Amino acid sequence: MDSEAGLLAAIAPTDGPGREVHDPATGELIGTVPVHGTADLDRAIAGATNARRAWAALDDDERKATLHRVADAIEAAAEPLARVLSREQGKPLNGPNARFEVGACVGWLRATAETPLPGEVVVDDGETYAELRYRPVGTVAAITPWNWPMMIAIWQIAPALRMGNTVVAKPSEYTTLSGLALAAVMNEVLPEGVLEVVAGDGAIGAEMVARPEFGKIMFTGSTATGKRIIEASAGNLTRLTLELGGNDAGIVLPDVDPAAIAEGLFWGAFINTGQTCAAMKRLYVHDDVYDAVCAALTAVAEQMPMGVGLDEQNVLGPLQNRMQFGVVDRLVEAAKASGARVLVGGEPDREQAGHFYPTTLVADIDPGNPLVLEEQFGPALPIVRYSDIDEAVRLANDVEVGLGASVWSGDRDRAREIAARLEAGTVWINSHGGVHPMIPFGGVKQSGYGLEFGVEGLKAVSVPQVVNG
Ligand code: NDP
Repeated sequence: MDSEAGLLAAIAPTDGPGREVHDPATGELIGTVPVHGTADLDRAIAGATNARRAWAALDDDERKATLHRVADAIEAAAEPLARVLSREQGKPLNGPNARFEVGACVGWLRATAETPLPGEVVVDDGETYAELRYRPVGTVAAITPWNWPMMIAIWQIAPALRMGNTVVAKPSEYTTLSGLALAAVMNEVLPEGVLEVVAGDGAIGAEMVARPEFGKIMFTGSTATGKRIIEASAGNLTRLTLELGGNDAGIVLPDVDPAAIAEGLFWGAFINTGQTCAAMKRLYVHDDVYDAVCAALTAVAEQMPMGVGLDEQNVLGPLQNRMQFGVVDRLVEAAKASGARVLVGGEPDREQAGHFYPTTLVADIDPGNPLVLEEQFGPALPIVRYSDIDEAVRLANDVEVGLGASVWSGDRDRAREIAARLEAGTVWINSHGGVHPMIPFGGVKQSGYGLEFGVEGLKAVSVPQVVNG
């Protein structure tokens, strides 16, 4: 699998015509994927169930070494994987995009391999001895969205495998090629059945989450689907980690240097062309620096090339699908109709074959506007003016979701004070959206529950057992 064509051939459907996959930048046909049904799901679950005992019985060092060999295989196939990802998802090869995403898969696998979760002695006082150990939860269902289809899959799969579980993964129907390509490379190394993949739509996902064979469901996607999964899992009491939607606020204090923070603000909002769970989706800027921040952000936005992903110069791409183009278009039109001021962008070509939405900054927007209150998940950032920090904090918290937030200031202590008042799973200071394999990540409110990454992430894919005596 050392070429893009080799990868695509390896994952092409073997029975039936499959479903065509089109490039979101051009509309061009790029491949075909299988469409799995209940019989395929049964086969995948049986494969993962059969593989469970042998995988769990492996010595921890052996599983660790296997994860490193999986990382080696991804590294060896990095360029073909990045090209498949770029063509299917739309994200450019360069910038914090396709090559970055494949590199992150490698880094995450290695960091997860190196993270130990030993048992701990909780009481040992001469009379009582009790030890807490972490055991595999069984088979994990790993259900992923279309924005970071490889990286998010690894976030779910790597800790699950590390803890001795087997996995059935379901990529989004919008990025099935990417999910299958990644799994094909991983399965060059993994024993049969340890990682199974089901390629289908939300209906097969719904079937999956109601199945009793799963000990755990790892889900990243929308809040609406998360709620359906909670209901479906109730019958089996299946454990859940839910990383759901966000509408992250950034708050800029009056003491910043606008030119110095403009690029950080830009990538905080526009990474992956805005299609990122923890991207900055609304920006609150103090009146004293409002015009200067708007001008500096506009200058950065105007220099960032958007276009076809395989073109090496681009750092922004199309939206992945027409549905998301429609969401962004509707929200920006509502903002324009309300009298908000478009600083750049806002005029998409609705007749194009692809789904490009231009980089858009909207100033002087009412804090109650739908572009501020709803998750746009695309390249359009509303910039709200404030003069009272208490009001900015109130507005930032006045939504139902709470994934991330950021505070931008030259005074770290002041920024940390404000961070403590924000209802979000992560608050960044002078950056937005960066994740790290050792730093726990998860949402509050309707952004979900459960933590991923690091030791907390390993605990989430295991079951505790106390040995007392
Ligand atoms: P969805 O929730 O629609 O889909 C996510 C995954 O769930 C897909 O694989 C989907 O399959 C599957 N699915 C759909 N219905 C069900 C069901 N009833 N039971 C089980 N699985 C199901 O999200 P999107 O892919 O549309 O992603 C967009 C939204 O997700 C964003 O607007 C954002 O809010 C959120 N998101 C959150 C992230 C986070 O980390 N918090 C990251 C990325 C996105 P299929 O696509 O094949 O229908």
